[in-house]
Amino acid sequence: MPRAFITGITGQDGQHLAEFLHGKGYEVFGMVKGQNNPRLTQIREEFPFIEPVPGDLADLPSLVKALEATQPDEVYNLGAISFVALSFNQAELTANITGLGVLRMLEAIRMVGGAQNNKIRFYQASSSEMFGKVRETPQTERTPFHPRSPYGCAKVFGHDIVVNYRESYDMFACSGILFNHEGPRRGMEFVTRKVTNAVARIKLGLQEELVLGNLDFKRDWGYAGDYVKAMWLMLQQDAPDDYVVATGETHSGQDLVELAFAQVGITDWQQYVRQDKKFFRPAEVDLLIGDPTKAHDKLGWEREVDFPSLVKMMVENDLKIESAKLGR
Ligand code: NAP
Repeated sequence: MPRAFITGITGQDGQHLAEFLHGKGYEVFGMVKGQNNPRLTQIREEFPFIEPVPGDLADLPSLVKALEATQPDEVYNLGAISFVALSFNQAELTANITGLGVLRMLEAIRMVGGAQNNKIRFYQASSSEMFGKVRETPQTERTPFHPRSPYGCAKVFGHDIVVNYRESYDMFACSGILFNHEGPRRGMEFVTRKVTNAVARIKLGLQEELVLGNLDFKRDWGYAGDYVKAMWLMLQQDAPDDYVVATGETHSGQDLVELAFAQVGITDWQQYVRQDKKFFRPAEVDLLIGDPTKAHDKLGWEREVDFPSLVKMMVENDLKIESAKLGR
């Protein structure tokens, strides 16, 4: 039975990946931080097959202990301070966890002998936010980085250190440059979920307005369930490499809002939406659109869920959750 060790198990992608790997027959270990992590109960209930392991990306000895205890064949580093807005407020913490955390994970793998003979294969969750003020459109594996947030800067360090350790120590280490991916498990702080949850609540009469920042930004949005397959595929190749994972389509923040409201039959969405400068980023990323040709050609990866289906899935899920709270 292959063994996988996942950091960020309590996050959106950690849950999808654990489910996917379990379906492939893996024994799944998930690193959980803190002495009484509030999300662990939900993980235990929904995913009883996951074996929780204590550890923190800020603490190298805890990573070494976790690897010694679990003896994984594959390590997926999904743990991060992942919310761009928070990264502006807590830039040092973001650099430490999202950036240096990658270095610590790679060092931990070397310290337990995992770098030799591809003993441990490593996946790093890189991000399209590294492209920031984009140098070319669409963005590929060769597009230069120009991050526009402390989060983006930390991800660039993580990405570059993976390349460096691969070249210096012959490690089987890959980065997936994943463009935005969403789904019903997305955290409420992220704009897609904030929109779909507010739309559900407005439809049910639980909320009157939705307050947002800039709506002109454009993103390449896919479904998280599709994207975790690409992570796994990267670690099954003969040689380690980096891949853009994206849909090749872009949609604006306004498209997202319109589509979500249309899902519950509201066409005059402007009546419910207010913009507030406090939600604008200090430096915006205007347009992201990825070119997934390499992932298609080399990994055989294809997305299955398109943007309208993704928004529909998320609105329906939030309607179900909010209705249940009302006892409907
Ligand atoms: P998420 O839902 O925000 O999950 C982040 C995870 O990181 C949580 O499990 C969190 O644990 C964990 N974490 C935070 N601080 C940690 C620490 N000090 N030590 C160990 N773990 C820590 O993020 P996601 O959407 O699943 O994304 C997974 C990864 O992909 C992240 O690295 C993200 O930056 C990257 N990414 C995401 C997207 C996207 O669109 N979703 C796109 C590109 C790249 P707690 O629950 O305990 O806080």
